[in-house]
Amino acid sequence: MHPISPRRGHAVVIGASMGGLLAARALSESFERVTVLDRDELPTEPSPRRGVPQGRHPHALLARGREVLDEFFPGLSDELLAAGVPLIDVRSDFHWYADGRLLCPGPSGLFALGVSRPLLEFAVGSRVAALPRVSIVDRCEVTGLTSSPDRRRITGVRMRNRSADAVEFVLDADLVVDAAGRGTRSPVWLDELGYARAPEDRVRIDVTYLSRLYRREPHHLGGRLGSTFAPYPGQLRSGLVLGQEGERFMVNISAWGGDAVLPTDDAGMAEFAEHLAAPDIAEIIRSAPPLSEPVLSRYPASVRRRYEQLDRFPEAYLVTADALCSFNPSYGQGMTVAALEAQLLGRLLHEGGDELWLRFFTASATLLDNPWDIVVGGDLRFPYVEGERTAEMLEMGEYLERYREAAEDDAVLATALLRVINMLDGPERLGAPELQERVLRGAGPARAAVG
Ligand SMILES: Cc1cc2nc3c(=O)[nH]c(=O)nc-3n(C[C@H](O)[C@H](O)[C@H](O)COP(=O)(O)OP(=O)(O)OC[C@H]3O[C@@H](n4cnc5c(N)ncnc54)[C@H](O)[C@@H]3O)c2cc1C
Repeated sequence: MHPISPRRGHAVVIGASMGGLLAARALSESFERVTVLDRDELPTEPSPRRGVPQGRHPHALLARGREVLDEFFPGLSDELLAAGVPLIDVRSDFHWYADGRLLCPGPSGLFALGVSRPLLEFAVGSRVAALPRVSIVDRCEVTGLTSSPDRRRITGVRMRNRSADAVEFVLDADLVVDAAGRGTRSPVWLDELGYARAPEDRVRIDVTYLSRLYRREPHHLGGRLGSTFAPYPGQLRSGLVLGQEGERFMVNISAWGGDAVLPTDDAGMAEFAEHLAAPDIAEIIRSAPPLSEPVLSRYPASVRRRYEQLDRFPEAYLVTADALCSFNPSYGQGMTVAALEAQLLGRLLHEGGDELWLRFFTASATLLDNPWDIVVGGDLRFPYVEGERTAEMLEMGEYLERYREAAEDDAVLATALLRVINMLDGPERLGAPELQERVLRGAGPARAAVG
C-alpha cells in the first residue's frame, strides 16, 4: 500500500517491543524516516529481555492478531512454522476449559501458533529492521518530550544513550509515538506541558502468574499441544500448558485475587495444578523435565487511558498499545490489539487530514471497546473485583454461563466462542438467534455462582 500524500518527515517511536515495532511498520509507509528507540540492549537472537519481563510468560497470539501480522509481514507465519513453531488447531490440538468444563473437542479449522514471545518479537523486529526507512536504536532511554514554544505541538524527544555517557540530547521528529508499555511516562510528560490528565478506567484484578518451560516429548498429552483452564467464580486458580518451538512446553499457573501464594517447587506446582479440571498441566509438571527456573509476576490491574475524551492534546504525538490500554493478560489480547492499532494508524495516515490525535484516539476507543468489555465483563464475574455491574452485564453473564455449559457438547457453539475469544468475531455474535437456540436446547439450569 502506498500513501497518496507525499511522505512526511521523521517519526520517532518510543519502545521497540511489539507495540512499537508494529507502529513503526505502519509509519514506514508514510514517513521518510522512522526511528524506534528502546532503552534495552536488544538481543541478537530470540531471548527474553529486561524491558519485556512478560516475555518469560506464555503469549497467545490470537488468530486475528496473526492475520494482521501476516498482512504486515507476508510469510511471517510460514517463517515461524519453518522455525519449528507448532500449528495448533484450537479445539483438537488444544483443550479449553471454561467454567471447569471442556469445550467440545474436535477440529475447528481455527489455528494458533505455539510461538514463544521472544521468538515472535525477534521475528517481527528483524522484519522491521529490514525495512528501508526504519532504524531501531537500542540502549536509548527517552527522558522527555520537546515542544513548540506555545506547547501545542510535540517536536521531538529528549533521550540519553545508555551505552555511553549519560548526556541528554534531543532528537527532532514530525511525529512521536509512545509505545513504552504499561510504564508509559506520557501522563507525566503531558502534565508537565500543561495538558489535563486523561480519564483512566482501572479494574483491579491482582493476578499472580508463575511460568516454567519443560521439555516436550512426542508421547506427552497423547500428542496434543496443550490446554488452558480459565478461572471462574469459586475457582480462583487457573493454568495453561502450551507447546512451543524447540520441542518444549510453556506451563503457567496463576492465582487470582492477590492473596494466594503460588508454589515454585515442582511438587507444589503439581499439587496446585491437580486442583484444575484440566489434567494436562499437572501431567507435564509431574512427568516432563524442566528447562528453566520458575518465573513469578504480578499483574495488578487493567488500565485504559481515555485520551479521546480530552479537549486539548498536542499535535504530532500519539500513545499506543499497552501505554494506551493494558489488559488482564489472561485473555491474551495485548499483541493483537497493538497490531490492530498499528493497522488503524497506517490507515489514518494514508487518508490524511488534521488532528491525527483526535482521529486516532477516537477510532482506537471504538476498537478497544470489544476487547475491554470482554475483559472487564469476565473479571467482574468475580465478587472481589470492584466495579459497576449493570443489569445488562449480569444478564449477559448468565447467558454466557449457559452458553459455555452448552458448548461442552456442541461443536458449533464451541467454535463460535473461540472465534470471539480470538477476536475474529465481535462478542455480539454469541447472541445470534441460531446460537441462542442451540444454547437453549443444550444447557441445563445455570450453575450457581459460588465464589
Ligand atoms: C504476564 C503477561 C502475559 C501476557 N500475555 C499475553 C498474551 O498471551 N497475548 C498477548 O497478546 N499479550 C499478552 N500480554 C501483553 C503483551 O505483552 C503486550 O500487550 C505487548 O507486549 C505490547 O506491549 P507494548 O509494546 O505496548 O509494551 P511492552 O511490551 O511493555 O514494551 C515496552 C517497550 O518500551 C521500552 N521502553 C519503556 N520505556 C522506555 C523509555 N523511556 N525509553 C525507551 N524505551 C522504553 C521497553 O524497554 C520495552 O521494550 C501479556 C502481558 C503480561 C504482563
